[in-house]
Amino acid sequence: MAGWPTWPQWDERELDGLRRVLESGNWGGYSETLGEFERAFAARHGAAHCVSAMNGTVSLVAAFAACEIGPGDEVIVPAYTFFATASAVRLAGATPVFVDIDPDTYNLDVAAAAAAIGERTRAIVPVHFAGLPVDLDLLLPLAAKHDLVVIEDAAHAHGSSWRGRPVGTLGDIGSFSFQANKNMTAGEGGALLTNDDALAERLWSYVNQGRDSDGSWYEHPHLGSNLRLTGWQAAVLQVQLERLDPQLERRMAAARYLREELAQFAGLRPLAWDERADNHAHHLFVLRYDADGLDGLSRDDFRRELEARGIPSSAGYGMPLYRQQSLKPPLGRATPCPAAERACKEAIWLSHNLLLADEAQLAAIPEAVADILTDRRRLALRAESPREAGSPRQASSPRQGGVAA
Ligand SMILES: *Cc1c(COP(=O)(O)O)cnc(C)c1O
Repeated sequence: MAGWPTWPQWDERELDGLRRVLESGNWGGYSETLGEFERAFAARHGAAHCVSAMNGTVSLVAAFAACEIGPGDEVIVPAYTFFATASAVRLAGATPVFVDIDPDTYNLDVAAAAAAIGERTRAIVPVHFAGLPVDLDLLLPLAAKHDLVVIEDAAHAHGSSWRGRPVGTLGDIGSFSFQANKNMTAGEGGALLTNDDALAERLWSYVNQGRDSDGSWYEHPHLGSNLRLTGWQAAVLQVQLERLDPQLERRMAAARYLREELAQFAGLRPLAWDERADNHAHHLFVLRYDADGLDGLSRDDFRRELEARGIPSSAGYGMPLYRQQSLKPPLGRATPCPAAERACKEAIWLSHNLLLADEAQLAAIPEAVADILTDRRRLALRAESPREAGSPRQASSPRQGGVAA
């Protein structure tokens, strides 16, 4: 079988862009290419402003700084997300408050977030997990009622939209990552979107050594750092952005196909796809694994069997974030998170690059699952009828030697 589509993808256009930056002699964070990319990324999302940054972690830190969130403040984050969502809160000097996820979407459980709001709560950071927008119809009114800032962590959600509105523009600030595994990448990189002129200026200043955008080079009225993207990255990202929509369509078509084909297996339940999410980036295609529906095979053994049949997967985050040494109480505040605990044990992630394959190749996934079940049942039958044990068929089972370590 041919290999899965690889990631990252690039062609002559990235090379041309890189050459253009090289020849311009303007390689750094004040390269014209940066402004071009920022305008294009903002336009794609219908945002008034885009401020690029080195990565999707410092972009979150910049967002907290721009909103003057720091020591003494609490920020609500989901317990099941990448480390950076919560580490950025601590790096800004504030305290993360971990709340549970919705077991059907793995997105922030808005009722749990409501219950966690206290005197010191200043912001909520929803993560559009795997590319599915969080329920913004519930989240935005909640934030408005309690006067909380909403910073969307859209690191998984390039091009996702909620009722026709691109994510990253629905809260106060949206933060994106262009790290190597993300759906748009320059190896590393980040971007912030906002419709608020004053926030955009503060974000820009924080990323640009505390300067004012209309001030002079050696004047630094604010505290800030150098968190700029380079011209090289912006040149690559311009082309990655051109590829975003065609790839988004392909991933969504692949996800629809897989949802249909995998429905026959009781032990594999894809995360829900809310209809209000008219675009779903599918940074990950996530299955909730139930061993009872797969003849008692453990999740990790099932993943090994998939791997042996050429289907790579990941078990995802190994623990809710409040169990990380750097985030556990009292460094962060934990609330009960049974769904996040469960997600760490049941999730199987397929990476977005698999979803760029055509249907003929995607068919290998349901076929592999069916094959694993057939093998299991054959083994179970043999165990029940000792006469068959040791038959040549068993001795030459093609799968035994192929299981990856
Ligand atoms: C990748 C990621 C980030 C940011 O990561 P960087 O590697 O710093 O760009 C933030 N949040 C989530 C959920 C992510 O997956």
